[in-house]
Amino acid sequence: MRDCFKPKSHNYRVLQTAKIIRCEDKDKLFCEQGFVLWFTGLSGSGKSTIAVEIEKKLLDCGRAVYLLDGDNLRQGLNYDLDFSEKDRNENIRRITEVALLFKNAAFITLVAAISPYRRTREFARNRIGSDHFIEVYVKAPLKECMKRDPKGLYRKVNSGQLENFTGISDPYEEPENPDLLLDTMKLSVYQCVEQVLLQVCRKFF
Ligand code: ADP
Repeated sequence: MRDCFKPKSHNYRVLQTAKIIRCEDKDKLFCEQGFVLWFTGLSGSGKSTIAVEIEKKLLDCGRAVYLLDGDNLRQGLNYDLDFSEKDRNENIRRITEVALLFKNAAFITLVAAISPYRRTREFARNRIGSDHFIEVYVKAPLKECMKRDPKGLYRKVNSGQLENFTGISDPYEEPENPDLLLDTMKLSVYQCVEQVLLQVCRKFF
């Protein structure tokens, strides 16, 4: 596993001194390519936790990595969007476009967003390109997510402070054929990270 993520410092030096580099050249210089790991799942299933650990691992190995977290993006880029189906789709459309920009800049781009609708996840895959995209379904039963409740959101739903909540008053369409399924009831965070990195090695290195 470690070999797959060895830092290639020479290539980084070359990249820093280059003035104008086309997308394909950048990939060559890094001997690496940009791609998107898209984490979908219920709130509290573990998307951010796993993505942050993967981000740390890849950064340690000298890779350019960027994590787009749906919750954070709703504070800025997507602050104007609500949780209607139309705005949820717009939320994912914008995240997809940003992820595509990072991927084209040869970043390993991690997206942690509930992304509840199959059609919009399909849009993301097609827009970014299947060859550069891994869909990771972070799975946990609703009951368990409610028990974990890391952001206190389910508590707010139960006390009537939040509406249109995925899994309760709004649909979550489970991936039918994800590239990777992480059952967080069976796998520890560490094991989930390992599974993702293995998949990355298989597909991209
Ligand atoms: P999400 O980003 O999907 O909303 P978070 O990552 O914020 O979810 O929270 C998931 C919670 O579940 C964290 O408190 C985390 O410690 C816990 N957890 C328990 N087991 C796992 C696991 N196997 N993988 C990921 N998270 C787990």
